[in-house]
Amino acid sequence: MRYNTIIVGAGPAGLAAGIYAARGALKVLIIEKGGIGGQIATSWEIENYPGSPPDSTGPGLTERMRQQCEEFGVEFATRTYNRFQQTETGFIVETDSGNLETQTIIMATGAEPKLIGCKGERELRGMGVSYCATCDANFFKGLKVAVIGGGDTALEEALYLTKFASEIIIIHRRDELRGAKILQQRIQENDKISMMLSCVVEEIKGNGLVEGIMVKNVVTNEVIEVPIDGVFVFVGQKPNSEAFVGQLERDARDYLITDDEMRTNIPGIFAAGDIRRKSLRQVVTATADGAIAAVNVIKYIEELK
Ligand code: NAP
Repeated sequence: MRYNTIIVGAGPAGLAAGIYAARGALKVLIIEKGGIGGQIATSWEIENYPGSPPDSTGPGLTERMRQQCEEFGVEFATRTYNRFQQTETGFIVETDSGNLETQTIIMATGAEPKLIGCKGERELRGMGVSYCATCDANFFKGLKVAVIGGGDTALEEALYLTKFASEIIIIHRRDELRGAKILQQRIQENDKISMMLSCVVEEIKGNGLVEGIMVKNVVTNEVIEVPIDGVFVFVGQKPNSEAFVGQLERDARDYLITDDEMRTNIPGIFAAGDIRRKSLRQVVTATADGAIAAVNVIKYIEELK
């Protein structure tokens, strides 16, 4: 089976690319190693995607994108991307379950949460340490949790957690938050949320389940133990770009470098969404990237003829 384009990743960027490419009469396959939706599948409220209804959710939004893809004839396959080989007429996409042939590729592999890297974090992951409030908040009804980080994600997720947990402590390494002012205001107005600024978590303690954290004040160097039932870590993201090492050009932070038309350094290979070097990683920018990548794939194929 030869495709006009294979899209790697089924988050908003890949799904938008699928819709645009299939509406452009291309034969399109989206491969995805996990579930549909990428990171947004773990976001509950989508307040800022233009036109989304008030009760819009991440899973709801991406499920609708998936349906649109299918309506236009996009094929889906659960496979893990390994690497590509260039051929005279396009590319071979090597996956964990065999090779696929295509004229073009759109890389939309996204990014994933960073770890803090403290003692106990890996050991207690899934046992009180979480990277997704939407997935796990329900387990912390009436309990006390810590949220690590000071960016938009940490603040939004802390607010979301107030619907479940009885007490939320935001722990941030600097004395001022990075997240949007409107979120900071909501945090301040919420009685369930308190803050430990200029503090880092040195250790997450627990025996099978999280029981406490050792928190160091980076100004005074004082370390205190805080009893806690859960730790939600939101300290940024890293791009899923390891599979492109030596094949596609990446920046110093490992994001793929593209031009404004989503072209990578290899003609015929495009990239879209959070995997790209860009200034704003949002659903709206991911879907825009996907649309631009697909339109340029269509142009590229036209020019080959
Ligand atoms: P981010 O903006 O990079 O913030 C990461 C936070 O974690 C920062 O406060 C950072 O501290 C802290 N941090 C990083 N490494 C740490 C470590 N090892 N230990 C302790 N703290 C650490 O990441 P994000 O919040 O995930 O947001 C990513 C992007 O998505 C941003 O552009 C953001 O605006 C956007 N976003 C937007 C929305 C929205 O508009 N609704 C929602 C979510 C995300 P420092 O501040 O000291 O660097």
